[in-house]
Amino acid sequence: MKLVTFSAGSSRRVGVVDAEAGVLRDVSELLPAGAGLLEVIEQWAELGPVLRERASGLPARPVEGVELLAPIPVPRRNIFCVGKNYRDHVLEFGRSGYDQPDRSEDLPEYPVVFSKATTSVTGPYGDIDPHHGVTAELDYEAELGVIIGRGGRGISREQAFEHVWGYTMIDDFTARDLQRTHKQWLLGKSLDTHCPMGPYAVSADEITDVTALMVESRVNGEPRQSAPVKDLIFDIPELIATLSAGITLLPGDLIATGTPAGVGIGFDPPRFMVSGDVVEVSITGLGTQRNRIA
Ligand code: MG
Repeated sequence: MKLVTFSAGSSRRVGVVDAEAGVLRDVSELLPAGAGLLEVIEQWAELGPVLRERASGLPARPVEGVELLAPIPVPRRNIFCVGKNYRDHVLEFGRSGYDQPDRSEDLPEYPVVFSKATTSVTGPYGDIDPHHGVTAELDYEAELGVIIGRGGRGISREQAFEHVWGYTMIDDFTARDLQRTHKQWLLGKSLDTHCPMGPYAVSADEITDVTALMVESRVNGEPRQSAPVKDLIFDIPELIATLSAGITLLPGDLIATGTPAGVGIGFDPPRFMVSGDVVEVSITGLGTQRNRIA
């Protein structure tokens, strides 16, 4: 099921999208009053069957013209992110000189984990604030986002997928100068609007083999990144086991799994984003997001 959060006047509504037919159904009336997509994920065991049975009976409208927001517009806490998780990206990052504090082209032995502030989240088609005066080196990173369903701690590799609700797309926009200067990634990764998400939150039952999905990006129509999820150095079960070893994962938690080669600092000289550039990210079955640098 493809779920969306959309804007209706001053309120946020939850919708189910039939992407092939190009239509959206407002399912908010099937949900507890005031429930957003986060609550749907938390209560999926009860609400999933209700949506499956009753959503198709609701009126459909063209999804075109509906203002889609990030599926989880305000996550409960920071988005977990994984750096240096595709081999060719580790190499381009190491060569670029932006990898701090321990510049290296060696593959990481353990997952490199950081986070993005919740206030960095923006919609799948929202404008990206270039933050002139704060950064002059804006870059993009197309990534598969894992959405946790059932929470837990000490989750094993074998049980990991039982805790996955589904998937979305995240563009891990990065201020490279801040990432390098501050020797810790939170600041460079967390500027407002630097985490476009969506358009869909896709439940796991719709994805037969997540490792076969292709993660791709284009800048002004020019292909930049393209790699299958199976190229991840640390796969989804490993990431969930690592994160949950000592941190309780919660329903609705997001994990951005890392970006393939082809980001701006992979070029020599680097190709940073400038106002007017349009970045598109696509993942098989998860749609396309399109964001313009304001
Ligand atoms: Mg990233």
